Amino acid sequence: MALVAYLLTLAVFLYAAESKYLQYNTTSVLVPGKLNVHLVAHTHDDVGWLKTVDQYYVGSNNSIQGACVQNVLDSLIPALLADKNRKFIYVEQAFFQRWWRDQSEEVQDTVKELVSSGQLELINGGMCMHDEAAPHYIDMIDQTTLGHRFIKQEFNVTPRIGWQIDPFGHSAVQAYLLGAEVGFDSLFFGRIDYQDRAKRKVDKSLEVVWRGSKSLGSSAQIFAGAFPANYEPPSDNFYFEVDDTAPIVQDDMDLFDYNVPNRVNDFVSAAMLQANITRTNHIMWTMGTDFKYQYAHTWFRQMDKFINYVNQDGRVNALYSTPSIYTDAKYAADESWPIKSDDFFPYADHVNAYWTGYFTSRPALKGYVRVMSGYYLAARQLEFFKGRSKSGPNTDYIADALAIAQHHDAVSGTSKQHVADDYAKRLSIGYVEAEKVVAESLACMTEPSQAHCKSVSTEFQQCPLLNISYCPSSEVDLSKGKDLVIVVYNSLGWKRKDVIKIPVVSKNVIVKDPTGKEIESQILPLLNASLSIRNNLVKAYLGISLSVTPGYSLAFSATVPPLGFSTYIISSAKQKATSTSERLAVQKTQQSQKNEIEVGPGSLKLIYSGNDGKLIEYTNSRSLVKQSVDQSFSYYPGDDGTHANKSDLQASGAYIFRPNGTYPINSEGKVSLTVLRGPLLDEVHQRINSWIYQVTRVYKEKDHAEIEFTVGPIPIDDGIGKEIVTKITTSMKTNKQFYTDSNGRDFIERIRNYRKDWNLEVNQPVAGNYYPINLGIYTKDNSTELSVLVDRSVGGSSIVDGQLELMIHRRLLYDDARGVGEALNETVCIQDDCKGLTVTGKYYLRLDPIGEGAKWRRSFGQEIYSPFLLAFTEQDGDHWIKSHVTTFSGMDPSYSLPDNVAIITIQELENGKILFRLAHLYEIEEDKDLSVMASVELKKVFAKKQIKKITEMSLSANQGRAEMEKKRLAWKVAGSSEEEPKTLRGGPVDPTKLVVDLAPMEIRTFTINFLSKHSTAEN
Ligand SMILES: [Zn+2]
Repeated sequence: MALVAYLLTLAVFLYAAESKYLQYNTTSVLVPGKLNVHLVAHTHDDVGWLKTVDQYYVGSNNSIQGACVQNVLDSLIPALLADKNRKFIYVEQAFFQRWWRDQSEEVQDTVKELVSSGQLELINGGMCMHDEAAPHYIDMIDQTTLGHRFIKQEFNVTPRIGWQIDPFGHSAVQAYLLGAEVGFDSLFFGRIDYQDRAKRKVDKSLEVVWRGSKSLGSSAQIFAGAFPANYEPPSDNFYFEVDDTAPIVQDDMDLFDYNVPNRVNDFVSAAMLQANITRTNHIMWTMGTDFKYQYAHTWFRQMDKFINYVNQDGRVNALYSTPSIYTDAKYAADESWPIKSDDFFPYADHVNAYWTGYFTSRPALKGYVRVMSGYYLAARQLEFFKGRSKSGPNTDYIADALAIAQHHDAVSGTSKQHVADDYAKRLSIGYVEAEKVVAESLACMTEPSQAHCKSVSTEFQQCPLLNISYCPSSEVDLSKGKDLVIVVYNSLGWKRKDVIKIPVVSKNVIVKDPTGKEIESQILPLLNASLSIRNNLVKAYLGISLSVTPGYSLAFSATVPPLGFSTYIISSAKQKATSTSERLAVQKTQQSQKNEIEVGPGSLKLIYSGNDGKLIEYTNSRSLVKQSVDQSFSYYPGDDGTHANKSDLQASGAYIFRPNGTYPINSEGKVSLTVLRGPLLDEVHQRINSWIYQVTRVYKEKDHAEIEFTVGPIPIDDGIGKEIVTKITTSMKTNKQFYTDSNGRDFIERIRNYRKDWNLEVNQPVAGNYYPINLGIYTKDNSTELSVLVDRSVGGSSIVDGQLELMIHRRLLYDDARGVGEALNETVCIQDDCKGLTVTGKYYLRLDPIGEGAKWRRSFGQEIYSPFLLAFTEQDGDHWIKSHVTTFSGMDPSYSLPDNVAIITIQELENGKILFRLAHLYEIEEDKDLSVMASVELKKVFAKKQIKKITEMSLSANQGRAEMEKKRLAWKVAGSSEEEPKTLRGGPVDPTKLVVDLAPMEIRTFTINFLSKHSTAEN
């Protein structure tokens, strides 16, 4: 026995001593007639989630999550160089750019070769994999452009594939705008509703041709594929990170546990399973997951072996592939694909697990992102007017911060608290720099001659906390003869009039317009409730204890030309204004009062019950709409996920909305209704309870009501988390239908308890009917439209007919077990005293006769996104008007953009070249007057410059539009043989006429070169 063993050992030893180097055959070829298994090696690197973006990059804070993106990219390069058949895709540019900056020129050259050979493919290509529910489409475009232009510049390539594998549901705008209009050939994703997925597996309809826009139809369609399960390998058996437990391929017969036949069988059967639910003989395996390939070799070694042995076996063909190769194979198969319209919201991964809570999670961060987004748009315009500074402050930091904030764990509200703080900090740093750009530009532009720009001394201040009535610049004593100068900038392409409200210390002030004429103004007392919110939040966020308390708000109406500014001067009244009593009216109403209270100085009146102080009617003498309306608050107790009598233990959390009943929020005791009246606006103040305060504003010249809520701290002393909603209730017969926007763009019809693509089994009658809202929500009956527009992304629905609801805040005590590992319990602290977060925000309410609502939703919606930008400075005496430019338009003074078009980008690039985007704001058939082709005259938009060259680009401006269209794949669709009506598009721009036509929902992107200043006459 011993001898035999010895001899055997010797034999093995002798044999092993010879070289056994095995060259695996990893040739990547497609085999017609065989099932081709496309192995797509990838890593999913969240741009912040459990750790911050920087922590993920350098690999710090590993006690939270062992993740280091630097390791991934460092180890990837030698792994790819080791075998030219190996391929990898990389997605998140925020990480890639950090790494790229760290590399030597040699490594950069190597990487450039890998990119150009196709071994390393950069796909998706934005700074992050943006969320698809909470971001505004302008942010999605900007963050994609930032990544794509970097890739173009460094590698001269354009990403071909949309790779949105992790976001929690998928939007129509992602498919048609950030997919087709970017020039992607396909779009892949992992998360769709579990019921939808089950049906699509049976129908083999996980892969579709997605037409996300009814206006742009097949001209903006894209091939789209939902994965059979998630974005990971096909089963637990195929994970190969260093510490993964999947069995490796042991192919050394001289060692124990040789398992090649077994592993080949595993591979073939997993492939067959997937082939059974997939059209054509091509299937994709997503070989990787979150932060994998930190030692890339471990994955490639196993895949080398699989490809070698599976192909020797011959039942299926395995190859290193990429989504591009896969897409080309699908296209070459000449198959017909089912059509998909609308979107993939809401997303549920389980019976009681609707990912609809995150539509509202972290409402303050969502609000901050939206405010910064509108500010960034305006700041880039002003940067362009002055000329981009090479050395001084610019808008690059805020661009980067906003881009990162669109990540699917950032603005979505699903990161850990310290990471949410990191996103906000980046925005804040970016804002401070952009604020300087704005101040310098305005200082320059208000000078009578721009030649003086270099020696400008005006220092403009801005008031980012004006939303809580905090503005040190306006809270100044003007009684000693100083003037307060307010420059009001309008970033929209049309003239605009809006009421401005600023805190002031004295009511004895007057307002002069840009010509020096005194204009109507109104004084509103700052009530104690508003002051205490102001003082508390300023202390919490700025650490300042306020000593000066402004007694009043000063309101006046400002009119500002397109892409321009108007200057208003506030000064002390020479004699006591006789009209003070008219300008300052307060009416306090108690519950006992029997009469109805009518509010509103213009044609819109809100009627409140004198009895209980509740809104009862909305009536407009101009539009002749009259409707009984109730507005109320309720809460959903968040399910804590521990109920023994429930079949599953799902808690409500950062991602998931799982209500456990619903309760009205009744007022505590007597509700006092305080009404402030004046010539410009009326305000209704209501303290609903100790943690909800509400101000409703009705303006003389606006046909909508503005509702400002302050909610928090949400009480949790009963041990129950709560999700707060506001409901607008009418008697309208809305037949389960309502409409919500897709990322602020197309409105999509929603039908309660219904899905177009499958027979919905209703398990969550509230959470399962929630949708993301970025612009607004509306519903209608035979005679009336009820619309609500929002100031940030929120979740909302119509749970009963005639009613709309918005979830405005949520505070929860349990984690919902989707990875974040924290309860969504935001607090705000003054020193060490922490209380639940208070959120203040606005929504806007309007009723219109049927067919009339779109004009307001679109035009005013754009005004919400781009509010007036205010800059303040003080000046001795009153000579500002004589010595400065007081009104300005960047366009020809007689010109205004058509009502259905917005400029969504003016951005100086390099060498005076600019990036310019126009967006048609209306869908087809949305408005009888404005859903038509629109024309923009560039000679008038850029009246002060001369256009030398204009090039139409893809949406992300990384290739010419014509070049992109030439490459577009023409997918065949299954079913309906009916000819689709031809979709409308604006034609090419004639370089001499310079008129841009835009069809409904069209966004057109251009780069424009101007003749340099000295070669053109000043005009
Ligand atoms: Zn992710």
